[in-house]
Amino acid sequence: MSVEMLPHITNKILAHYDANARLLPWRSPPGAPAPDPYRVWLSEIMLQQTTVAAVKAYFEYFTQRWPNVAALAAAEDADVMAAWAGLGYYARARNLLACARRVAQDFGGQFPSDEAGLRALPGIGPYTAAAIAAIAFGRAAPVMDGNVERVIARLYAIATPLPAAKPQLYQHVAALTPLHRPGDFAQAMMDLGATICTPRTPKCGLCPVAAHCLGQQQAEQLPVKAPKLPKPQRQGQAWWIEAEGHVFLVRRPDKGLLGGMRALPSCDWQGAPVAPPLAGSWQALGQVVHVFTHFQLILGVNGLKLADRPQMPLVGDWWPIDRLADAGLPTVFNKAAKAAQKGMRTI
Ligand code: SF4
Repeated sequence: MSVEMLPHITNKILAHYDANARLLPWRSPPGAPAPDPYRVWLSEIMLQQTTVAAVKAYFEYFTQRWPNVAALAAAEDADVMAAWAGLGYYARARNLLACARRVAQDFGGQFPSDEAGLRALPGIGPYTAAAIAAIAFGRAAPVMDGNVERVIARLYAIATPLPAAKPQLYQHVAALTPLHRPGDFAQAMMDLGATICTPRTPKCGLCPVAAHCLGQQQAEQLPVKAPKLPKPQRQGQAWWIEAEGHVFLVRRPDKGLLGGMRALPSCDWQGAPVAPPLAGSWQALGQVVHVFTHFQLILGVNGLKLADRPQMPLVGDWWPIDRLADAGLPTVFNKAAKAAQKGMRTI
């Protein structure tokens, strides 16, 4: 593809965006003034590893409850972690708070406007920094997420497998990114990947750059991906202790997986046999399977029903079972709680 052709392709993508942009709560319409950096940052952190559909309700809730970075910086950790529950990848929520506090304390509540300044903040990697710089500050930062990678790999018929192809893909995105409207261009590319150049059955007939696309004939085979290694498996146990309509919950240590989240008492998931936290007539209530980024967990669920709430050997709270939805349990413990409640009814 010749260099002279690039502005032409960029303009076609922007024109398509002008007519077809997805309306999303964190966006400004095409050509409108840039949206509030707080909203761009929040949406980008939430969208890491999560779909647009799943994020919308969380975004509305967060921005109503904490409408700016100062409000979020002043929030209680437990409230933010509970509000995040269900979005997964909880290190993001801890970094979200750390970042809000850094921006509030060190930058007077204003996000830095360039990629380097943004990347120095907790939880902001190269992609997120570029997205915020382009969308909120109009910087010509090349923005490359999974959707954009797919569009570029097809447009240029890149045969190198991912992730090795990333630098090559990035150079193509950089060459297409305009100085004028770089934020709209980034969002236009994301939309193109999400709605037209989809992983399966791309709608090439609707694509604004079909006339230039070198990979159209083998689109579904692109991008080429290096074969995935199977995830290692871990085993663990969780304990549902129920008394007087309450269940005993602990808070996980701040550091580590699901750090700071409320949870059922549980072992360390390394597979070694571990005694339950209380002696009693424990019932095996089944297993739940949960896939984390780096491993798959098979969690045995065990239940104990008592007449009175005992003195516990662990630090924690007795939580009303009919308000369990408000406890902010992460997904794996929600699954375990559901399995326990189902099993306990039949005991
Ligand atoms: Fe993707 Fe088809 Fe457009 Fe090529 S023509 S970029 S494969 S939608």
